[in-house]
Amino acid sequence: MIKKKYIDLLRVEPGKKISLKDYDTGWAQTEEFKEIGKDNLKKRASDILEQNLEDLTLMQQLLYADDRYSLLIVFQAMDAAGKDGTIKHVMSGVNPQGCQVFSFKKPSAEELDHNFLWRYMKCLPERGRIGIFNRSYYEDVLVVKVHPELLQNLPDGKRGKSFWEDRYEDINAFERHLERNGTVILKFFLNVSKKTQKERFMERLDRPEKNWKFSVSDVAEREHWGDYMDVYENAINATSTKWAPWYIIPADNKWATRALIADIIASTLRDLDLKFPEVTQAQLEMLAEARKKLEAE
Ligand code: ATP
Ligand code: MG
Repeated sequence: MIKKKYIDLLRVEPGKKISLKDYDTGWAQTEEFKEIGKDNLKKRASDILEQNLEDLTLMQQLLYADDRYSLLIVFQAMDAAGKDGTIKHVMSGVNPQGCQVFSFKKPSAEELDHNFLWRYMKCLPERGRIGIFNRSYYEDVLVVKVHPELLQNLPDGKRGKSFWEDRYEDINAFERHLERNGTVILKFFLNVSKKTQKERFMERLDRPEKNWKFSVSDVAEREHWGDYMDVYENAINATSTKWAPWYIIPADNKWATRALIADIIASTLRDLDLKFPEVTQAQLEMLAEARKKLEAE
């Protein structure tokens, strides 16, 4: 397990204004990692990941049996930051019946004709379940802010000066509503450097089996890198709350990303007071009765 005080460094404290350039995209964001030294680190990271994956399997069963909470995990990142691989690895030990992943792409015409939270509301995890949003309602204050032409048709006057601030407020209220109903929310920004993104794009071009992953629009979006960093920074600052905190995860090394995220998810579940439902006296008597019957066969 990674010490809590190091994980706390990755969480954006509500009300604190962070600057993304202060966050390391490599492996050394947490002091503990620095202390271990990079050579030992990969091995430590894989041990941490393995241990947490085992715990996650158990915790998910408990979450399901307990049937009071649900867990919503939001992943946001620039292209090639490793969202897909992280989801695949971190969720590898989880029972598919208790977990659902939704990947949000460009909204359809029908979705655009509703309020901006509508399509996400329909995909929220039920009690006892884990829901993963691979991109999320945050796109509506990220890509849409960088490309305002993507915005829904809104009546005149609905796009005033405080438009984006109002959306942050809506998101905070939405998440507060979910939390009040038993949803635990974790939000991860996979913080990849521009340099690493280029290396990963080049790999997709160089290796035929990776060609399919390459999309020309990814390079076009890369040209807006600075704008994206600004909108991410603003959104994270406006929406990291006590009930739905953001974590900024270094994403240049996949092993570090995965170990950190698995640790945060597992420890969040560990901190809930999850319990197996108590068996009542009447149920115990029924069980004893059933045992008798079976033994008498
Ligand atoms: P990968 O590239 O790793 O396969 P991805 O999440 O980037 O995964 P894509 O199909 O490449 O998936 O891209 C989805 C696109 O949809 C992104 O460019 C994203 O910004 C865009 N998108 C998602 N939500 C919205 C939204 N609400 N409004 C406009 N565009 C959106
Ligand atoms: Mg993409």
